[in-house]
Amino acid sequence: MTAVVGVLALQGDVREHVDALTACGVRAVPVRRESELHAVDGLVIPGGESTTMSKLLGVFELDDPLRQALRDGLPAYGSCAGMILLASRILDTRADARHLDALDVTVRRNAFGRQVESFETDLDFAGITDEPGADPLRAVFIRAPWVEEAGPDTTILATVPAGPAAGRIVAVRQNGVLATSFHPEVTGDLRVHQYFVDMVKEGRAS
Ligand code: GLN
Repeated sequence: MTAVVGVLALQGDVREHVDALTACGVRAVPVRRESELHAVDGLVIPGGESTTMSKLLGVFELDDPLRQALRDGLPAYGSCAGMILLASRILDTRADARHLDALDVTVRRNAFGRQVESFETDLDFAGITDEPGADPLRAVFIRAPWVEEAGPDTTILATVPAGPAAGRIVAVRQNGVLATSFHPEVTGDLRVHQYFVDMVKEGRAS
């Protein structure tokens, strides 16, 4: 059976993730209600605006069900605002912003903002660019967060290679939860989505 991967469709880059996931050979569906959440094997939380998405999670009564699904092991991938929502601790956000506590990391919102709002760089990504002959990954950052601190059970997959933010953590994984500061859905390079689809398939097999 084809894996079904949901894209949280409250706000943000929904269409781009649906297209990238479809190109990876899974059935990609928008998720707005609890019943739709329970029908997926994995979930992408897209980039957008984390405080808006946080508010909409409450409006759509998805906050608790999503938190519970993550606790029950639903594989999830958050990009940019999605990373912020998956984190356990957020710096520089609104006091009432919700987060899902699925990743033991401290995320700083709009972290690159003081230096430069948006930028692109090539980077190494563990499990993707260490394949023989693999090209580096082009990472597009748009008012992005970084991971300021990662807990002991979190694996760091990518850091910024050079420049004023060199060494900052921009991709992490903790069991079935993946997060990137950047937006792979805008580059046409499917490798991060494929990495997540493989995580979803491993989740189904175990
Ligand atoms: N700065 C945004 C936020 O705080 C995230 C930006 C993005 O997702 N591209 O939610």
